[in-house]
Amino acid sequence: RPGPPRPHVVLVASPGAGHLNPMSELARRLVAHLGLAATLVTFPDLSSAAAGPHASAPSAQSAVLSSLRDAGVGTAVLPAVPLDDLPPGVRVEAVFFEMIARSIPHLRAMLVHDAAAPPLSALVPDFFCAAALPIAAELGVPGYLFVPASLAAIHVMRCAVELNDADGDAAAAVGDGEYREIPAPLRLPCGVSLPREDLPDGLRSREDPMYGRFIEEGRRYRAAAGFLVNTFYEIDPATVEEFKRAAEQGAFPPAYPVGPFVRSSSDEDAASAAACLEWLDRQPTGSVVYVSFGSAGALSVEQTAELAAGLEDSGHRFLWVVRMPSLDGANNNFAATDQKDDPLAWLPEGFLERTSGRGLAVAAWAPQVRVLSHPTTAAFVSHCGWNSALESVAAGVPMIAWPLYAEQRMNAAFLSSEEGAGVALRLRAGRDDGVVVGREEVAAAVRELMEGEKGRAVRRRTGDLRQAADMAWAPEGSSRRALEEVAGRWKAAAIGVGKDKQ
Ligand code: UDP
Repeated sequence: RPGPPRPHVVLVASPGAGHLNPMSELARRLVAHLGLAATLVTFPDLSSAAAGPHASAPSAQSAVLSSLRDAGVGTAVLPAVPLDDLPPGVRVEAVFFEMIARSIPHLRAMLVHDAAAPPLSALVPDFFCAAALPIAAELGVPGYLFVPASLAAIHVMRCAVELNDADGDAAAAVGDGEYREIPAPLRLPCGVSLPREDLPDGLRSREDPMYGRFIEEGRRYRAAAGFLVNTFYEIDPATVEEFKRAAEQGAFPPAYPVGPFVRSSSDEDAASAAACLEWLDRQPTGSVVYVSFGSAGALSVEQTAELAAGLEDSGHRFLWVVRMPSLDGANNNFAATDQKDDPLAWLPEGFLERTSGRGLAVAAWAPQVRVLSHPTTAAFVSHCGWNSALESVAAGVPMIAWPLYAEQRMNAAFLSSEEGAGVALRLRAGRDDGVVVGREEVAAAVRELMEGEKGRAVRRRTGDLRQAADMAWAPEGSSRRALEEVAGRWKAAAIGVGKDKQ
């Protein structure tokens, strides 16, 4: 007699490499380690959508999806939805939320009406796709939210929601136009205090047009059966404990730290990736500072020149992923349409010649996970995107925190504080948009991290956390056990459904 059906989990990843990559790794592990069937649903590749971001990243999405299929994970792409009625200049976050909202009926049709689809055991949208949770309720399966950011970011969302939602009573909720401001400084469970400028974009001020959108999204979080978070217990135990307490009181869904999910992207342009790695092979062990601002970070022309001069003055070796500078003051180029120009042409005159031999500048993209785990890489000047931070910690590479947008300043505060992770030095300047970080500050921070006393403490702490990150997915490791616990529940429910049908 055939056994019970393999429980089937559908995961929904919002646009962007920083969301898709860790979720695809979750999907892969659900199949490879936990014996589930999984399908990852994505949105149409953004490079063809109205916002046109990530144009300088190699077409990430299709490569990630094809590597997933090789690993036995099903994939599906939602149909494109029209977005051309959005006002010009609308923020990329607003485009994301709108695209997701307009896609929900298609997702529902895919899950509820497609008779050919295997029956569902759980639905796992990511933290921007909480609008999909009612579909889980409709189907009578648990809906868990995947969080590709830190658990502290969800804590901030919870604070914002509770502040605006009297006793969780939606009827008494504060409505549009009269939101209450998050009080600052906001103390995180780990003890780090966030001044207003370190709150995530959109949540810094209730005047921000995104504030209400985030509150709305956060309110939906209450309907989740739990959060599956790309983090691990030891990097922020206080926040995990705080979520445990809140869940016991029924105040907020429980959180399961199930990461870190670190994977080499399968989308790398082989030739340029090889050029980076071959250059690293020729450098002395522990000598190279890797510099990158993620998939969309952008510096001004003036800031690019100061960074170049700072790297040159530091005297250290470096591998710098240079992206097109922004000419309009934006700190990201999500909305950039023309990415065909050569960013290296914007470097200061003579810089490449003067640093040749000890510095390598590459245009737009490097095989980051492999760069970080290369034995010659010793430090990472990073925009503090959460994936980059986890990849750095998992490779035991300390950081210089240079946050730009989204929740990166909050990450920088957490990563650079002793009460937090303590794995980064934070630049003094660069706290406000528009402030240029001077060459002296860049050079001093690089020297401190590579040679100084403070740098030594940060390097030691990074080494300790690296071991904890390694252990998290060892047999009996904390993250593996947490995911096994959740998957066990899905399996038990699926067997129950199977019995009902017999
Ligand atoms: N990445 C990469 N090469 C680059 C820049 C980024 O492989 O030159 C990868 C990086 O390893 C990470 C992701 O892109 O997995 C960026 O995610 P993160 O959360 O750090 O930042 P985001 O780009 O979402 O701001």
